Amino acid sequence: MSLTVDKTNEARKVLEQSFGYHAFRPLQEEVVSSILEGNDNLVIMPTGGGKSICFQIPALIFDGLSIVVSPLIALMKDQVQSLRMNGIPAGFLNSSLSSARQSEMKQAVLLGKIKLLYLAPERLMSDGFLRFVKGLKVSFIAIDEAHCVSQWGHDFREDYLKLGKLRELFPSIPIAAFTATADKVTQQDIIDQLHLRNCRSFVSSFDRPNLSLTVMPGQNRLQYILRFVREHKGQAGIVYCLSRKGTESMAHKLIERGYSAAYYHAGMESAERNRVQDDFIHGRTDIICATIAFGMGIDKSNIRWVIHYNLPKNIEGYYQEIGRAGRDGLPADTLLFYSWADVMKLRSFIEDSPIREIQEEKLNRMMQYAESKTCRRRTLLNYFNDPYTKACGNCDICKNPPQYIDGTVIAQKALSAILRLQERVAMGTLIDHLRGAEKGYLLKKGLHKIRTYGIGKEISSGDWQYYLMQLIHLGYLDIAYIQHKWLKVTQAGKELIRERKSIEMAEPPRDKPEFGRQQRVKKKTKKQLMYEELRARLHQLRNSVAIREEVAPHQVFSDATIEDMARNRPSTYTAFSEVEGMSDAKLERFGSQFRDLIFDFKVEHHDKGSTYIESYQLLKAGKSLQEIASERGLAFSSVAGHLVRLWKNGFPIDPLDHIPAEDVSRIRGALPKEPGDHVLGEVHDRLGGAVDYWKIRIVLDMEYSD
Ligand code: ADP
Ligand code: ZN
Repeated sequence: MSLTVDKTNEARKVLEQSFGYHAFRPLQEEVVSSILEGNDNLVIMPTGGGKSICFQIPALIFDGLSIVVSPLIALMKDQVQSLRMNGIPAGFLNSSLSSARQSEMKQAVLLGKIKLLYLAPERLMSDGFLRFVKGLKVSFIAIDEAHCVSQWGHDFREDYLKLGKLRELFPSIPIAAFTATADKVTQQDIIDQLHLRNCRSFVSSFDRPNLSLTVMPGQNRLQYILRFVREHKGQAGIVYCLSRKGTESMAHKLIERGYSAAYYHAGMESAERNRVQDDFIHGRTDIICATIAFGMGIDKSNIRWVIHYNLPKNIEGYYQEIGRAGRDGLPADTLLFYSWADVMKLRSFIEDSPIREIQEEKLNRMMQYAESKTCRRRTLLNYFNDPYTKACGNCDICKNPPQYIDGTVIAQKALSAILRLQERVAMGTLIDHLRGAEKGYLLKKGLHKIRTYGIGKEISSGDWQYYLMQLIHLGYLDIAYIQHKWLKVTQAGKELIRERKSIEMAEPPRDKPEFGRQQRVKKKTKKQLMYEELRARLHQLRNSVAIREEVAPHQVFSDATIEDMARNRPSTYTAFSEVEGMSDAKLERFGSQFRDLIFDFKVEHHDKGSTYIESYQLLKAGKSLQEIASERGLAFSSVAGHLVRLWKNGFPIDPLDHIPAEDVSRIRGALPKEPGDHVLGEVHDRLGGAVDYWKIRIVLDMEYSD
């Protein structure tokens, strides 16, 4: 066997034993192999794609210590805790630890008790630490959030630049850089800045098919959000708002209505922020209303939804923020509100920026996404140069394609009003004018005397906004940003009026959208009810274990693991140990509690396989086979038959305990070399009929089973 095949097998074994996963996700195995071969690597995978395992598995296979560079203290603690729950010796060093704890950690590292050490870049590159690490066998360095090293990225950090020296300081070990977002330029810059050599790049698909995508116009946001959270009651979610005040008022509105919510923004004391974040991670708060400052440093796999109350300023940020939902791979819903006021606000933020043109272009792309009339996922993925040509079926456009109407009259009204108003009105004023609003400022300016006043009464303000934005994007209107955001009719717009050309426009969405996959509740099947009941009980148990262990519930078992248990209801020890995410360590620590819960549930519901479980429970309670048979009203031979079945399915029983030792050895002595068709009768005869058939059957079954 070649070295690589050997290593690949080992990687699969670690995946199964240390993480409880049965298969690698796309690219994970390739990355792991490449690191094990000693190459430098650059890995681009979307949030939730499963980057961590790519460096954690090599770290477990290599001798000695592996170092993980991570910019965020909260994230380190979380990852380390999750690793430890899987029995993996990991640790971190940062300023959140007392100096005594830091010395302890260093001691553990020196003694070789730590396989993975998480550090912030400034700590790793400090003289003191480099001296400390000199005497150690460092086998591998992983750099997380590697886009921070590049000024082209969207989150440049000065401290990351120092990492450029690593390649020289550790000349003979592999270095791997990981990030969720980096365009082509940034990718090359990361390789250059880190001096990676013969670097292999892995760029995985950005698709996150489990995230539903919905965009809605910004009117009546609150009403829609309230409906949304009602449909997602009890689930963890984030509402992103543009302003600090926005987060506070949103949180208050939710709390007033009985939801478990809190707000989070950069203006808060850091202790308070940590508390809010901690409550969210540990499932004590369901909803966080936050500015984008929130979410970077958290590694919570069971966030079920993300709402953008305001338009994000670029697609990179938007994708990263929605990417925080559904990291466990289960369905998650995202909802974006799009309003003209937000666009104006974002434009004013970038007005004085030295890189205004780039930012403006990015904002335009964001708007195009929000206004997209074709599959949103397709728009998104193409933005990241990730070719995607089908319709996804999991976005609002795919589920509810826009209806087109003859927009000629609407366009004529709008464009002629703008011209009559001498192209000196912004969108809000224009809409008021078109609708004939009796607002003081209109009357004062005399705008009600212009002939187009009130010609668009029959269309609501929200719909006007929707149509006007289309006219902008169709190229008939333009906005003079430097001139009070007045609307200007373009050349194409003037032709449209002059030549009375007809145009099509998409109708504003009318139906109340379905948020994600959540359908109106039909009558539930028995199967569905059982699933929900068991899942609720498992969640409860998970919460109480989490409190006892002082960790977050999803660190005990992820939602995906709970779901697997609830859906498949394993009825054997073996099947239980094969649940997704059931690492050896978790099986050992928490297995029996969860397994007992499932077994009890199955017996209670007379579910498939429960007859064996019931016999097992009575055996465990010390009952004899005879007692079990009479208590359960079963034939003795059936109960005896259960013994082997239980044993084969991994239950911790020994069927031979129920047969006198001398009988066992007599039976063994009478066994033929090869099992044949009539072996049971033969053995019985050979023993002169003195040993019961059921005993012979058990011994036979055990001897000949593989
Ligand atoms: P990223 O760092 O890329 O955002 P993570 O490493 O946090 O993603 O992984 C996201 C989630 O997917 C985690 O809960 C992780 O345990 C899980 N996961 C990763 N790889 C696999 C796999 N091969 N099979 C099942 N679950 C996986
Ligand atoms: Zn779609």
